[in-house]
Amino acid sequence: MPPGVEVRLGSAVTHIDLEARTATVAGEALAFDKLVLATGSRNSAFPVADDDAEVHQLRSLDDARLLDAAARRSRSAVVIGSGFIGCEAAASLALRGVETTLVTPEDGPQQARLGHHLSDQIASWLGDLGVELRTGVNVTGVEAPRTVHLDDGTTLAPDLVLAAVGVEAAAGELFEGTGLQLHEGRVVADEYLAAAPDVWVVGDASRALNAGAGRPIPVEHWGDALSMGELAGANAAAGEGERRAWSDVPGFFSTIGEHTIKYLAWGDGHEKEEVVDRTGGFTIWYADASDVVVGVLTYNADDDYERGEALISAGATLTEVLAGARAEDPAHEEDA
Ligand SMILES: Cc1cc2nc3c(=O)[nH]c(=O)nc-3n(C[C@H](O)[C@H](O)[C@H](O)COP(=O)(O)OP(=O)(O)OC[C@H]3O[C@@H](n4cnc5c(N)ncnc54)[C@H](O)[C@@H]3O)c2cc1C
Repeated sequence: MPPGVEVRLGSAVTHIDLEARTATVAGEALAFDKLVLATGSRNSAFPVADDDAEVHQLRSLDDARLLDAAARRSRSAVVIGSGFIGCEAAASLALRGVETTLVTPEDGPQQARLGHHLSDQIASWLGDLGVELRTGVNVTGVEAPRTVHLDDGTTLAPDLVLAAVGVEAAAGELFEGTGLQLHEGRVVADEYLAAAPDVWVVGDASRALNAGAGRPIPVEHWGDALSMGELAGANAAAGEGERRAWSDVPGFFSTIGEHTIKYLAWGDGHEKEEVVDRTGGFTIWYADASDVVVGVLTYNADDDYERGEALISAGATLTEVLAGARAEDPAHEEDA
């Protein structure tokens, strides 16, 4: 009978000694044979805000409760950042009747990362909900209690400010000096998620070699954190020759208002994108400079989403994928 899992809540690991094989929790050195690191991310600092400015962030359940309470008493909000969390939060605030402005240095939401087509779509979904988009502007300061200064010289004074400005590895300092290799605070691992003998790392804390991609990739998605956790646990328990490599194509869903997009990609950039219209939706295929498909994003196009993973894993070319898409499209057959 395997032993159960002892859970210690409210206890941070403050020191790891890989030679002694101990992790220190509240002054107690816990001995381990195997170690799985799953310390995740924390919100990036937002240093332009005054220390006493009322700036919400969103990571924990407590953060969400505070934001919810603030939204109940607010008539206006400024959301800083046009990543998925910023866009989702802006849409949710607007749906609750809060007059919302989204401020971003990007020329459009997600434009740099996912291209013009998606960016224009998100802008239009946000616009339909009444969100005012202020693009191409940086926040230069947030003065207490909630005055937001922009680099175009204007200021906004909402009832609520939310900074959705990204994340960084949560426990980079914990790993320094352990001998583990770090890349931007993330622990570097091989394709079995091993960072050192008997040490595994998963989720946001990791920068592991993905056997499918053939290169190390960072992930910040909870489905991948879960599947990496399962794999690392299985590999930690398995014998040397029985370990499985990590090769999943990472991905996530995002719901902005009532619109859900689904995304699967290696996630480390693309050189070209092709949009395929679908009934009531669209698919965007992303490819690298060699025409190899590296990602797919769908809106109301689940068939493409479902075949996307196999195509990306197989290294299909954009030319092949688009030829397949056209062959399936009855309108194209009529044209031909
Ligand atoms: C608002 C928000 C919305 C999101 N929406 C989506 C989404 O729609 N889809 C999606 O795929 N992803 C989403 N994400 C990202 C997703 O939450 C993360 O990718 C995922 O939680 C990463 O899981 P993880 O287990 O690696 O780390 P985390 O979930 O960050 O968990 C890390 C855990 O380790 C603990 N820890 C850290 N340091 C120590 C220490 N020294 N000692 C002990 N414990 C420690 C932390 O307290 C925490 O419990 C969202 C994130 C946020 C903040």
